[in-house]
Amino acid sequence: MEVMEDMLSKAFSMIDDGRILELAEELIEIPSVTGEELKVARHAGEILEASGLPAEFRGSGERPIVLSNINPEGSPYIVFNGHLDTVPVPDPWAWSGNPFKPWVENGRLYGRGSSDMKASCAVIIHVLEVLERLNPPCSVGIQLVPDEERGGVQGTKLLLEEMRRGQLRKPDYVVIGEKSNLKIRIAERGLFQFHIRFRGRATHTAYARVEGINAIAKASKAVLALEKGIDRFHPWIGYPVISVNTIRGGEVLNQVPAECTIGVDRRLIIGETAETVMAEVEMALREAGRGDPDWGWEILAERDEKGGYIYDPPNYTDPENELVKAFQSAVRLALGVEPELFVEWAGVTDGRFYRYSGIPTVGFGPRGEHAHGPDEFVYLDSLKAQARVYIAAVLGLAEKTREIP
Ligand SMILES: [Zn+2]
Repeated sequence: MEVMEDMLSKAFSMIDDGRILELAEELIEIPSVTGEELKVARHAGEILEASGLPAEFRGSGERPIVLSNINPEGSPYIVFNGHLDTVPVPDPWAWSGNPFKPWVENGRLYGRGSSDMKASCAVIIHVLEVLERLNPPCSVGIQLVPDEERGGVQGTKLLLEEMRRGQLRKPDYVVIGEKSNLKIRIAERGLFQFHIRFRGRATHTAYARVEGINAIAKASKAVLALEKGIDRFHPWIGYPVISVNTIRGGEVLNQVPAECTIGVDRRLIIGETAETVMAEVEMALREAGRGDPDWGWEILAERDEKGGYIYDPPNYTDPENELVKAFQSAVRLALGVEPELFVEWAGVTDGRFYRYSGIPTVGFGPRGEHAHGPDEFVYLDSLKAQARVYIAAVLGLAEKTREIP
């Protein structure tokens, strides 16, 4: 334990906030909206090489994945994953400054991608720089990926396919650096998206009350029935969410609409499946149309060859897993506070791909705000805290494995 403490204080003293800020600013200055990650990926590779770390590129030539490793033969193998793509800036006028000229104010770093998640990628790179000098008895890798904001097919998902084919070493543990307010994220909601189509009867507006059946009016009843909070909670993951996010109906102004389709985005918590969700939706629709002789609807959902719904189930890593335990003690050692689980209104991360493959995965990242919006920022002190926790977790996992003969 004393050895560990000595090593930790040495490691903590090697963390350089100035370096983290410099790296974060460099990454933010290179715009990298999903699909246009080439420049920022190349730059990340150059940063690594300039620090004497290996840089390897995978994936497509236009949208590379940047990999680096220390002690590639060591065990356990711990991987830090972050995405270099960002959402666009559709509203530069709403920003207080240039989103691609990062600025610091009141201990916050502002810029597109500061919170989601280039500053965290900067921490990941710097942690590898520090660990390389410490040379811990384990292997540490980093993955800086494209395409996260549009589903990860060209990024993390591609790496998992390479692992399945034996072209890439499978990590024992994965850490996702997405913002988590320095809390430990062990679970993520699932994702089930589907459409509901309502049919009416078209006619001239003049006959709307005579022979028309307005499909938009029918869909509206369903929207009101579905747009509700769901009274169900899971301590690792929070509440489920349902949101009607699209609506299409009607062709021209002088005709009663014959058809209207709504699009539903449903986020699932542990215990829910596509089937249980669908049963609830059907019940709500039947209730909404009670007493309406013209009430009819059809669910449009993607299905596989066997007829099952295609969706992303909720996923989690057991809180008893040694990775979770390592992060809990790392938070105690590095931040001097009791670790908390991150149970918030958060979206999905690439961590789900690892969990679906059975690899223990936690999310741990900085505190930031306004991701995807104007004046996105990250708190600078949380970046240093993130680096401390990462290093303590790696050393803890390395130590633990050594103890087991
Ligand atoms: Zn993100």
